[in-house]
Amino acid sequence: MNTTTKSDENAPVIEIRDLHKAYGNLEVIKGVSMSAPRGHVISLIGSSGSGKSTLLRCCNLLENSQRGEILFNGESVRWKGHGASRAPADRNQVTRFRTNLSMVFQQFNLWSHMSILQNVMEAPLTVLGEDRAEVEKRARMLLEKVGIGDKADAWPAQLSGGQQQRAAIARALCMQPTALLFDEPTSALDPELQQEVVKVIKDLAQEHRTMIIVTHDMRLAADVSDHVVFLHQGVICEEGAPDQLFGNPQTERLQQFLSATM
Ligand code: ADP
Ligand code: MG
Repeated sequence: MNTTTKSDENAPVIEIRDLHKAYGNLEVIKGVSMSAPRGHVISLIGSSGSGKSTLLRCCNLLENSQRGEILFNGESVRWKGHGASRAPADRNQVTRFRTNLSMVFQQFNLWSHMSILQNVMEAPLTVLGEDRAEVEKRARMLLEKVGIGDKADAWPAQLSGGQQQRAAIARALCMQPTALLFDEPTSALDPELQQEVVKVIKDLAQEHRTMIIVTHDMRLAADVSDHVVFLHQGVICEEGAPDQLFGNPQTERLQQFLSATM
C-alpha cells in the first residue's frame, strides 16, 4: 500500500463536486455534485444524451473535466492547467484511482484474442504485477461466482452476450476494486439474457459493494439502489431514495421520463 495515500474510511468512495465537462463548445455536464458512500449503490438514470456515460467516465478519469472536484476516499484529484487545458497532474494518482474504480461497459469489451480466463487475469498481472498463481485462483473463483466457471478456456466469441457480460464483471472484480462502475450493462442484451446479468449485479449489491450503475432498467434501479439520480441535459433534475423517486416523482421531467420508460 502506498503510504502517502490519505484515505479516509468515512469519506465517500467517490465524490464529485460541481463538475463541469464540455466537448468543444458543447457543454455536457453542467455543475453536477454526487457521492457514492462506501457500500452504497447509486443508480444514474436519464434520457439518451443526458450525460450519464460522460459523468461516469469523468469519475474514473477516462475523460477530462474542465471544472470542479473529484475525490476518491476523500483524496482530491490533483490538476494541472485550467479550463479546457485542465488535466490530472499525477499519473500515479490516475492509475491508482482507475484501478480502484473498475468499469463494466455496455459492449463488454472483452479481448477477442484471449481466452475468458486470460481476459479476467490480464489487468491484475500487467497493471498490478500480481503473482500469476494467485490471480489465476481468484479468476477461476470469480468465474464460478458469476456462473461461467466452465467457460474459462473458451474464446469470447463462443459465449452468449449474457455470458460475455458476466465474464466482463468477473474481469472487473478480479482487480479487487473499491467500487464498480457500470455503464448500461444490460442494454446490449436480449431481454432473456438481461436477467442473468441483473442477478449478478443484485448479488453484488447484497454484498454491499460500492457501485454506480447507469441503467435504462428502472426495475433494476428500484431493486438495488440506495439512491437514484435523474440526470437531464447535464444537470441533476431530481434525486432521492428509489421509493420516493419512482413512487412519487416531483418534477414533470421525471414524470415524463418514467412514463416513457416504465
Ligand atoms: P448518455 O450516456 O446519457 O446517453 P453521453 O454522456 O454519452 O450521454 O453524451 C452526452 C452528450 O455528449 C451527447 O450530446 C453526446 O452527443 C455528447 N458526446 C458524448 N461523447 C462525446 C465525444 N467524445 N465528443 C463529442 N461529443 C460527445
Ligand atoms: Mg451512455
